[in-house]
Amino acid sequence: MPARDDLVIPADLLPRDGRFGSGPSKVPTGTLEALAAGGTTLMGTSHRQAPVRGLVRRVREGLTSLFSLPEGHEVVLGNGGTHAFWDAAVLGLVRERAQHVVLGEFGGKFADAVAAAPFLAAPSVVRAEPGSLVLPHDEDGVDTYAYVHNETSTGVMSPVRRVGGGDALVLVDATSGAGGLPVDVAETDAYYFSPQKSFASDGGLWLAVLSPAAIARATDLGGSRWVPPFLDLRAAISSSRLDQTLNTPAVATLFLLAEQVDRMLAAGGLDAMVARTTASSRVLYDWAAARDFATPYVADPDARSLVVATLDLDERIDATRVCAVLRSNGIVDTEPYRKLGRNQLRVATFPAVDPADVEALTACLDFVVERVG
Ligand SMILES: *Cc1c(COP(=O)(O)O)cnc(C)c1O
Repeated sequence: MPARDDLVIPADLLPRDGRFGSGPSKVPTGTLEALAAGGTTLMGTSHRQAPVRGLVRRVREGLTSLFSLPEGHEVVLGNGGTHAFWDAAVLGLVRERAQHVVLGEFGGKFADAVAAAPFLAAPSVVRAEPGSLVLPHDEDGVDTYAYVHNETSTGVMSPVRRVGGGDALVLVDATSGAGGLPVDVAETDAYYFSPQKSFASDGGLWLAVLSPAAIARATDLGGSRWVPPFLDLRAAISSSRLDQTLNTPAVATLFLLAEQVDRMLAAGGLDAMVARTTASSRVLYDWAAARDFATPYVADPDARSLVVATLDLDERIDATRVCAVLRSNGIVDTEPYRKLGRNQLRVATFPAVDPADVEALTACLDFVVERVG
């Protein structure tokens, strides 16, 4: 049968905003308008002067409030996104041996980066079947525990709890989870993320909430092993304390991030954001439960992500075609994670996504499935 990508979804079914991508994700139109309206005092001006430093301060203070940071925890940032933070952590946070929980692609990438470091012991890797959750566990000789808050490739979320004793560090990849999932940051030593997921900004930066223990470890390791200057957490920490970055940041990314953090705080803070992502994701899981052709990919309801919902479709329905039809109607980025290779939809329900638009998406799905399935 030819692909019916020309199928037109009635306008009254369409969501107001059709961006459901898991990263880069929807940037609210209002923040883009704010950038256009107010950007001339920031864009194209020195990042060493008060206006851009004020933006960095707004981000650092806003995140301190949003996460109700315990005394001594600091918001640190640098260029290069989460991938750059992983390399900085290999060099500056893992002392000798790490334990990694691998739930999917992203947890696996950090584990691979540590495994490849010639100055570290082979990591202990705890692997879950894709679509399921495993937790880290206490292990002798491990000085760093690493796991993912929200595994964006599979839509599995993990509780955030401290593991390990002594001075072991807990590093949580919250790239897509931070801002949309519940957390007590005191349970972590590095709670790190990028702004293009739950924070509705653009890519290119990493942010990390570091505990005093993580700062001490970075200071210690940075003084005792060679670390390339760009990946030296000591430099990121000292620059951040001055509301700066080591080298030139993307000012627009900072602007959109600051606006979104302020919006989140004005709307009631992290609890309110979690209520919103819970409501949005429930729309999708309930929709799948009520259809005989759709099933939540994550079998354990407690591990089903509030911010990235993965829904398997029955083999009678070609998810690739469904996504193509949605795309031709302005509903974009519902495709599954490419390497997972499933007949699946993946829909981000980050805080910036309107639960009413998620409702509209399900109506569109019913319309499309009935016609192309
Ligand atoms: C998107 C993502 C990353 C990669 O982030 P970059 O900023 O592109 O490096 C890492 N981990 C998780 C969980 C992600 O969702």
